[in-house]
Amino acid sequence: MVPYPPVEPRLAEIMEAHREEIVDRLAELEWAADPRDPRHLVYDPVLVRPRAALFLESLIAGLGRGDWSIFDAIATTTGEVLRSGQRSVQELNERALSIITILIPLASAAEDRDELLVATFRTMQCLSGGIVAEHHGHLVEELERLNELKSLFMRLTSHELRGPLTVTRGYASLIAGGDFGDIPPAAAGAAGSIVSASETALSLIEGMSEVASLEGEAGVLKVTAVHLRDVVERAVADVLPDAEAKGVSIDRKIADGLLEVDAERCVIAVRNLIGNAIKYGAPAATVHVRAAVDRSHAEIEVEDEGPGIPDADRERIFERYYRTESTRASAIPGSGLGLYIVRRIAQLHGGDVRVAATSAHGSRFTFSIPARDA
Ligand code: ADP
Repeated sequence: MVPYPPVEPRLAEIMEAHREEIVDRLAELEWAADPRDPRHLVYDPVLVRPRAALFLESLIAGLGRGDWSIFDAIATTTGEVLRSGQRSVQELNERALSIITILIPLASAAEDRDELLVATFRTMQCLSGGIVAEHHGHLVEELERLNELKSLFMRLTSHELRGPLTVTRGYASLIAGGDFGDIPPAAAGAAGSIVSASETALSLIEGMSEVASLEGEAGVLKVTAVHLRDVVERAVADVLPDAEAKGVSIDRKIADGLLEVDAERCVIAVRNLIGNAIKYGAPAATVHVRAAVDRSHAEIEVEDEGPGIPDADRERIFERYYRTESTRASAIPGSGLGLYIVRRIAQLHGGDVRVAATSAHGSRFTFSIPARDA
């Protein structure tokens, strides 16, 4: 939306008085830009002068009578020109500003020069502001389009990769477990490495596909009424095989209540937190899950007895792909997307996730969201 200038009848008068001269200069400036530029061909020299005259006529009408359709038209044309790639925003801005160089000497010669100069600058500000606003809108549209494309690409790639990787992991795990007969220890070790590498790749793919769905159009929440207990229990059920494999027990204290949330996504968030507590915690340890809901908020706390998070990493672990230095040095598989997803899900609900700064041994994550969707 173009910010309209105030009515400036004197500026309109001076433009009218010097109509021929201004049109000549406008046409000259347009044509002088760079005649070798192939984009210039669309500016037929025969048309340049009448076009400049028409533009000036509309400007005079706009400034003199408060008929601002010229500014709307300029905004629309600017948008079209930018989208077609015929002119860059700098070029358009230069053209708008060039009018000022024509008007200043004319305004300076008049008796009421101060008011006229102010009016000139104000009008140019409006023209320029309109161009920048259009450009901004154009950039936002372009970024949204690219983001959609990126999300689509991520969804398709992850879908295509998941199948072959699951097969690879499955067979490697059978080979490592001796299901196809005895194999030398070195081969079993290699098969084990294939299992863990495909797990890392699968977790990256799962994460990327979840991020894509949260960032794309599908990022809209599907809110239903659900019990807090169901969300926690479903998340626990998902990670139970990992907990059992590591001898970890999951202790739950749930003060149940009804939520209005995207249940699927909340399960994903809680599952990521409990999954991390198992993954980064010690074997045979206990993971504590506490959940409660009051009239306004639901809070789910996941506490482990693992190594804890260094102070400097407390915020960074929620960034995309970030893993702490000790984790990167370890063989623990992961993508660094889990906590980014948890935070995104919490924020989409109008909540957040934090990690306690006090836990010297172990970590305590708190996922907190409004109980009812506003
Ligand atoms: P991933 O587990 O796939 O690496 P996350 O985004 O879930 O990715 O976690 C980011 C990083 O935060 C992990 O790599 C790890 O360094 C650290 N982290 C997360 N949860 C814990 C935890 N419970 N205990 C210790 N470190 C953790």
